[in-house]
Amino acid sequence: MQDPENIVDETLAITEHQVRDFLEAFRVPMACDCADGEHDLVLNPDNQPNLLAIPDPRDEDLENWFFWLNCNCCGHARMISASRVWTWIKTKDQDDE
Ligand SMILES: [Zn+2]
Repeated sequence: MQDPENIVDETLAITEHQVRDFLEAFRVPMACDCADGEHDLVLNPDNQPNLLAIPDPRDEDLENWFFWLNCNCCGHARMISASRVWTWIKTKDQDDE
């Protein structure tokens, strides 16, 4: 049984490669509606996938975390739930056992 208290540290440790595997597993379309651009995963200078943290106005202790994709033409952004990626990685590991 996974310890959910590790979710913060483990989400911070998710790599570019793991997010790209997730995008591929769910066939997240990379073509943008603007028809002239492609979405790509936004990375930090150290190649870690960039995280957005959006606070819940109903609960000051709660933040929603997202990895995000950005269109290289129009700038449209697509957000991917970081907790969903975390869950997928955990489930995938269990399936491998
Ligand atoms: Zn676009």
